[in-house]
Amino acid sequence: MNSHYRVVVIGGGVVGTSVLYHLAKFGWKDVCLLERSVLTAGSSWHAAGGFHALNADPNIAQLQAYTIDLLSEIEKESGQSVGMHMTGGLTLAGTPDRWEWLQSAYRTFQSIGIEDCRLVTPEEAGDLCPIMSTDGILGGMWADREGYIDTTGTVHAYAGAAKKRGASVFEHTKVEALEQTAEGWRVITDKGVITCEHVVNAAGLWAKQVGRMAGIELPVAPLKHHYLISDTIPELETIDFEVPMTVDLEGFTYMRQDQKGILLGIYEIDHEHWALDGAPWEYGIELFQEQTDRIENELILGFERYPALQEVGVKTWVNGAFTFSPDGNPLVGPVRGKPGYWCACAVMAGFLQGGGVGKSLAEWMINGEPEADVFGMDVARYGAFAENKEFIRQTTGQFYTRRFVMTYPNEQLPAGRTLRMAPAYSDMSAAGARWGASYGLEVPLYFAPEGFEETPTLKRSNAFPIVAKECAAVRSSVGLLDISGFSRFEISGPAAEAWLDNVMASALPKPGRAKLAPMLSEAGKLKGDLTVFNWGDGTWWIMGSYYLRAWHMRWFDDHMMDGVRVRDVSDARVGFSLSGPNSLKTIQKLTDGAIGDLKFMGCGTFDIGLIRAKVGRLSVTGELGYEIHCEASEHITLRKLLLEAGADQGMREVGFNALLSLRLEKSFGIWSAEFTQGYTPGQTGMDRWIAWEKPGFVGRDAAIAERDGNGPSQMIATLEVDASDADASGYEPVWQGDRKVGFITSGGYGHTVGKSLAMAMIDADCTAEGTALTAHIVGAERSATVIAASPYDPEGRAMRGA
Ligand SMILES: Cc1cc2nc3c(=O)[nH]c(=O)nc-3n(C[C@H](O)[C@H](O)[C@H](O)COP(=O)(O)OP(=O)(O)OC[C@H]3O[C@@H](n4cnc5c(N)ncnc54)[C@H](O)[C@@H]3O)c2cc1C
Repeated sequence: MNSHYRVVVIGGGVVGTSVLYHLAKFGWKDVCLLERSVLTAGSSWHAAGGFHALNADPNIAQLQAYTIDLLSEIEKESGQSVGMHMTGGLTLAGTPDRWEWLQSAYRTFQSIGIEDCRLVTPEEAGDLCPIMSTDGILGGMWADREGYIDTTGTVHAYAGAAKKRGASVFEHTKVEALEQTAEGWRVITDKGVITCEHVVNAAGLWAKQVGRMAGIELPVAPLKHHYLISDTIPELETIDFEVPMTVDLEGFTYMRQDQKGILLGIYEIDHEHWALDGAPWEYGIELFQEQTDRIENELILGFERYPALQEVGVKTWVNGAFTFSPDGNPLVGPVRGKPGYWCACAVMAGFLQGGGVGKSLAEWMINGEPEADVFGMDVARYGAFAENKEFIRQTTGQFYTRRFVMTYPNEQLPAGRTLRMAPAYSDMSAAGARWGASYGLEVPLYFAPEGFEETPTLKRSNAFPIVAKECAAVRSSVGLLDISGFSRFEISGPAAEAWLDNVMASALPKPGRAKLAPMLSEAGKLKGDLTVFNWGDGTWWIMGSYYLRAWHMRWFDDHMMDGVRVRDVSDARVGFSLSGPNSLKTIQKLTDGAIGDLKFMGCGTFDIGLIRAKVGRLSVTGELGYEIHCEASEHITLRKLLLEAGADQGMREVGFNALLSLRLEKSFGIWSAEFTQGYTPGQTGMDRWIAWEKPGFVGRDAAIAERDGNGPSQMIATLEVDASDADASGYEPVWQGDRKVGFITSGGYGHTVGKSLAMAMIDADCTAEGTALTAHIVGAERSATVIAASPYDPEGRAMRGA
């Protein structure tokens, strides 16, 4: 063992070895992995080794597909068998909604290029898996590239391939402490001290403790998980193929063949956490006693699905632990404020996702960012609120229990709530607000009459007419929206302007003005769709998406300059927006300031009743609008004042569901849909805000190269969809005849224009107005036509007040 390496990876499970392999593969050879025991000695040794294509996040599904392809590669490179059984896989649907959902999932796969899947009837499913009862099955999805591997063999194959590429692996070497230095990290082990530039936490069941060694509290928790392996099933001895890896979503089980028996794994409704502070250090290659009482109901369903289990005995019980984050996706990437500390933890399905995690992290470390948009597994999608143990317990437990439970897009889940509320929360609740959660904060979705219950559905819900009324109020009179759920960063100091000029690709607003500002990565991909305010008193604000607060802060820190102070004031400054033709008349009643003189995209400080507020004349809805920001302690008062002033103006309180519909009618993109870190300014129309004449800003060279190139191959377009009962939600593939030309980024109903609308990333040669396309929306193929952007008020007269 050397005394210095460029990178030290902590943990010799499937994830750590994959990170090590990818670092060495991409050219960093001076890297080592430390394992306190032997390779696989955490969760990895006892995993069921199954891999399958499905994931709710299409970006993660893509990384899973990458992992599956990689397995044979590492086998070849290392000479170590991974024990590949590519049996193919079945996912079963047992309710009409699930069947519709599965058909949509199949289409989503097509849109992200996973083509080797097909839908099957219950009879076909029965033929593919003859030991299965098809009772209650409405349909299924078959995927060619699903199956299982030998878990120990796979970890050794990753490690072996990494070693062949120059990396080192040291077993029986426990990391006991970490110390940050000017150059990187001191890694204190029971075998001596190593210095390094980068340290990777791939400690699996011990990730919590290895986080704490660096002063980091990761939102991760281990939960117990059962599978059984049956004795020989006679029928399996008579067929000449292996039965497929089969997931019975309504039965909460997965199944694969194991020699001439089967392995039946269970996602337990009555879940059980273990070692919330991380596994004990003395925990070895161990299992827990099976707890069949706890899983009785799921076992009954499993034994009904695979009746042969009723005839044969159980050869082995496995009850082991593995780790989960609050949303079940991994925690990957650099940690803010800890340069050189990287996470590769909470990987729930390491054999399925480990390859993609290793690849993305290695690219990130070496190139500064991963190739794919990995926000869905970025550790920075959580903030300090998610460090709380009870929050972690509730959310990880909920995820685990609901792993195979159908979740509807309009469903609100209870774990980790109610946590953070804007001050007027109770008053808004009394007025009928129904809430969703964003980054721990309750945000109003819509305002409903007492007793109203929204029905979970894949289609338009019974809240549709309520949202329609809110949209109508905004278009015809004035809507009041709590805008606490946006991020606000205050930028100050002598170098504030120079710093903003460098990180933003747009020109900066003049004093008393606001401006839309794309932020780019060095590679010219989007890093933010922000609004910059120049308050005219030397202070500036950046406003953006609330749930990106930690993600943006990490970016700001990484691009920091002397003489600048960036303060996240998102919880200290809250507010309301007024939007609609009567918004000026409403706000004018509350101020003797010259608010009527405020031009579109103007901003300034005004007295609003008793409140000294910051006001911007902005519009996300496409109407005349004002965003009014106050101190958190003034939020209740501000709402009361605005409601009183708007009482004779037809004011209605509205929620974010209305906002999403209204912005779609304007073809205004939003982050995580039309704008992501996977897209460029040219693809998304963000290039129109770039100040090309600025001598320098982050991403300038790449943006210019895009501008001067042949143009992007795909671009955002607006579609009118022929749908009467359901709207697009995102990732549905878009076709021109038999040719797949792209996918929908977001969709919904435009209540003013009376149309089902979608925005889509499609081939540039299909973006002309009138192009006839099709898209699959919730179980049905629908025609879709490209229409001009901004179907409502294309000239923008309403929002400009012209
Ligand atoms: C019953 C069961 C069935 C499963 N089935 C599947 C499946 O079918 N498919 C699938 O993809 N996944 C499955 N999983 C999940 C899978 O096991 C995990 O996702 C995976 O093992 C996580 O790997 P890891 O490398 O992150 O963590 P681990 O395997 O826990 O590895 C972490 C390693 O870090 C080492 N370490 C920790 N702290 C230190 C330290 N301070 N110094 C040095 N070394 C340290 C540990 O000894 C350990 O070897 C299953 C899990 C269970 C419990």
